[in-house]
Amino acid sequence: MAMEAPPEEVYLFVAGTRPEAVKLAPVILALQAQGCATRLVATGQHRELFHDALGSFGLGADADLAIMRRGQSPAGAVAAMLPALTQQINRYRPATVIVQGDTASAFAGAQAAVYARCPLVHVEAGLRTGHGEPFPEEMHRRAIAQLADLHFAPTLAAAAALRREGVSRHCIHVTGNTGIDALHLAAAQLAGDAGQQAALRQRFAGIDLRRPLLLATVHRRENHGARLDSVLAALAVLAEDAEIVLPVHPHPAVAGPAKAILGGRAGVHLLPPLGYSAFLWLLQRATLVLTDSGGVQEEAPALGTPVLVLRDVTERCEGIASGNARLIGTDTTAILAAVSDLLGDAGARAQMSEAALPYGAGDAARRIVAVLRARYGRVQAAAE
Ligand code: UDP
Repeated sequence: MAMEAPPEEVYLFVAGTRPEAVKLAPVILALQAQGCATRLVATGQHRELFHDALGSFGLGADADLAIMRRGQSPAGAVAAMLPALTQQINRYRPATVIVQGDTASAFAGAQAAVYARCPLVHVEAGLRTGHGEPFPEEMHRRAIAQLADLHFAPTLAAAAALRREGVSRHCIHVTGNTGIDALHLAAAQLAGDAGQQAALRQRFAGIDLRRPLLLATVHRRENHGARLDSVLAALAVLAEDAEIVLPVHPHPAVAGPAKAILGGRAGVHLLPPLGYSAFLWLLQRATLVLTDSGGVQEEAPALGTPVLVLRDVTERCEGIASGNARLIGTDTTAILAAVSDLLGDAGARAQMSEAALPYGAGDAARRIVAVLRARYGRVQAAAE
């Protein structure tokens, strides 16, 4: 009698925003490379940004819940996601549900997994500011930590934060950040594609690379309003001595003020949100990065680009401690002082570039997949 094939193990990913797409892509690809079945459910929290980022890695979603409505609150989004995600989990009956980071999508995916009595895995676990901010992300992270069965912490500090909250050390694995894996994958792909490089050079031909290049991103909810205006006012002044490149987040609270304060200024390049490779091309050439993004705080140092963090607190404390990044807030005068300090001091910039990298060596996905397969791998277990 023919032996029945062991049941396929399905790994179900729930995600909805650009950084989740970037940081889960290496894990999905590593699982697929081992012949495992993966399914990705997009919540629809971000539409174009999410699907563009996934597409940069040759991936697509298996389902899109399209739950987002204009002006929807995080509470409304989570409430809409829960029943739809439960349906998807029941449809695929996965070995485990995997969520990443701290978004409403990750929080809803975590709850849906637990309600469906499905094991829950959290990638990039343990990041903490120790404050209520950023809100609601800090709340999401803490809540997911209480629900997950396996926690992949990017750093030792993140693992220690989980331990302080009572998570058993047997469930925590320190892997490095999968965002660094994503960066390495994209950098290798770009380096091997002369056509794409030429296209990007042409696309960005309007940027005067003989001047210092300041690459900025700003989008966080806590920076909307007066804090954003203050950052944009600083960028307007900085454009006198440097090229300012700002891929503008489509959120109306960002896009409106960016256009009003910086639109049409000499030396300022307001761009639409960029594909991952295009953004990487700019990161590789930037003199300094100014950002309130979480992922960009990790990527820029991995490329040796100094980072100024436009926040009062960060959960990426390791970058500040190692010297890759400086926390400068959003005050116009403070930004101008920090940038002019660094632009005038090549030695200080070199020191930041060369500081130790706290976020891993780009092998986080491999480590994560080894743990997942040892724990949930039916195919492997049957073969042994
Ligand atoms: N990113 C991108 N295009 C852009 C700006 C950023 O692909 O125009 C990438 C960036 O490289 C990083 C991710 O988007 O991997 C960060 O996303 P975001 O800043 O939206 O979220 P956060 O990291 O703050 O959660």
